[in-house]
Amino acid sequence: MRWTDAQRTMLREMGLRLWLPGTDAAAAEPAAGPSSRVAGVGALADPVPTPLSVKAVVVAPKPAAVAAAVDSPRPAAAEATLALDWPALRAAVASCQACGLGASRRQTVFGVGHPRAHCMVVGEAPGEQEDASGEPFVGESGQLLDRMLRALGLSRAPAVPGGAAGEAADPARQVFIANTLKCRPPRNRNPTPLELSTCQPFLERQVALVQPRVILAMGRFAVQSLLGSEEPIGKLRGRLHTWRGVPVVVTYHPAYLLRQPADKARAWDDLCLAASCLDTVPG
Ligand code: SF4
Repeated sequence: MRWTDAQRTMLREMGLRLWLPGTDAAAAEPAAGPSSRVAGVGALADPVPTPLSVKAVVVAPKPAAVAAAVDSPRPAAAEATLALDWPALRAAVASCQACGLGASRRQTVFGVGHPRAHCMVVGEAPGEQEDASGEPFVGESGQLLDRMLRALGLSRAPAVPGGAAGEAADPARQVFIANTLKCRPPRNRNPTPLELSTCQPFLERQVALVQPRVILAMGRFAVQSLLGSEEPIGKLRGRLHTWRGVPVVVTYHPAYLLRQPADKARAWDDLCLAASCLDTVPG
C-alpha cells in the first residue's frame, strides 16, 4: 500500500508520524498532534497489510455471565427482528422499550452510513451528544474516527449528495456505523449484560442487512456484545475474530485514544488489519 498525499495528511491529523524505510527518524515528518513519535509508529511507513491466511482466526472464550446473556434462547420478538427490512428495523428501534434504557433516552441512535458498506464499525453505547443528535460517534471522538477512516479512504458520508442513505455511493468506500446499544445509559454508566443481549438482535439484523466484509469492533462493550468476551482490548486486538461468519477486528474506542494517544499507533495497525480483509475477502 502506498500512501497518497491526502492519506498522509490524515495520518498527521491523527497525531501519527510517518517516516520512510531508511529515513532518519529525527528528520521525519513532524506530527501535528501532541502524540507525535509514539512507540512502534515507525511501522506506519507504507505498511503491508497482513493477508488473512496468515492471521489466526480466534473465537474468544465467553465468561459465564456474558455467555449466559449473549447465548440465552431468543424471545419471539428477537426472532421477528431478524426478518425486518431497513425501514421496519428503523421503526422497531425507534419505538423499542424492551429494556429500561428506553425510558430515559432522548432518542434512539440507529446508525448511519451505506446500507451495503464493505466495512462496518460497531461502537459501544450512545453518549450525551449521540443521545441529543441521534447519530453515533459525534463530537471529538467522532471526528477522530472520521479522520481514521479517511486515512483508509473510507467515509461515513454518502458520496453522492442527497443519495438516499448513501445507496448511490460506492459501498467499497463507505462504512456503516452502529452502536451496540441504541439508547444511552443514564449518566453514561456502563451497559449491563442484559441490556447488551436485549439490544443485540437489532445489531445482528443490521449486520445481516449490511453484509460487511469486516467489522471493526471499537471498545470493550462492542467486543463484549459481538464476541462475548471480557478480555481487555489489548489482549484481543492484533488478530482476526469472527462473529456470525464475519471477520471482526478489535480495536480501541476513539474516546479512549483521545485519552491515551500513545495507543493511536496500535489502532492504526488494527485499521490496516481491517483493510487487509477489504482487500482479500471476495464478495
Ligand atoms: S437499548 Fe436497545 S433494547 Fe433497550 S430500549 Fe433501546 S433499542 Fe430497545
